Amino acid sequence: MQIIPLPAFRDNYIWVLRHDSRAVVVDPGDAEPVLRYLSSEGLSLEAILVTHHHSDHVGGLSALLATASVPIYGPAREDIAGISHPVAEGAEVRLPGIGVRFRVLDIPGHTAGHVGYYGEGALFCGDTLFAAGCGRLFEGTPAQMHASLGKLAALPGDTQVYCTHEYTLSNLAFAAAVEPSNTAVAERIAACQALRAADQPTVPFPLAGEFATNPFLRSSEPEVIRQAETQAGHALANPVDVFAAIREWKNRF
Ligand SMILES: [Zn+2]
Repeated sequence: MQIIPLPAFRDNYIWVLRHDSRAVVVDPGDAEPVLRYLSSEGLSLEAILVTHHHSDHVGGLSALLATASVPIYGPAREDIAGISHPVAEGAEVRLPGIGVRFRVLDIPGHTAGHVGYYGEGALFCGDTLFAAGCGRLFEGTPAQMHASLGKLAALPGDTQVYCTHEYTLSNLAFAAAVEPSNTAVAERIAACQALRAADQPTVPFPLAGEFATNPFLRSSEPEVIRQAETQAGHALANPVDVFAAIREWKNRF
């Protein structure tokens, strides 16, 4: 199986999973780049996976369905037109045409019913975990997002993370503000700047690298706690409060 990013809108990636002449797409916010790619590569669509209800992830569903009647997997706890296979934690998604099987993870926080798909060493996590960052809390609480990120962080370190936005350099600029003395952040900025200068995506990325550079997975680090307390203006009792203060800071950054 090959996994290809299709850039969409300003900074989205629609992921295409392909094997032989079959393809599965993840979070098609726009049908046009998907249809163009399938046609130019001679691929037929087998299924669609959706992580959450935001329009930049589901906007292309109806146009894709009009061209191919395929199963659409998506979060059972969100109201999304066109979902034929609602899924939640523990469900298995079998995609025999591309030879892949995914396990569904409930990862609320960005939205209330957000799901992720994990299998074959790959994680499709929508707008939950980003490279050096995490999604905004539009519907969930800091405790929910902290738990969701913890669930993803427990996956094997060599998991390749396929998030849906190219936010890496701006996330890393924030990470450097949170931890000015973190040399792993400085190194990752240089590596990602080189990728972007060569017009390459910084996604996917290995999960293991997040532990050293993603401030949202580092709420137990002394420097992160200190910075969060400075931002909050008072002492913070636990990692969830630290996470909440860092997330709040990022919203204003
Ligand atoms: Zn979103």
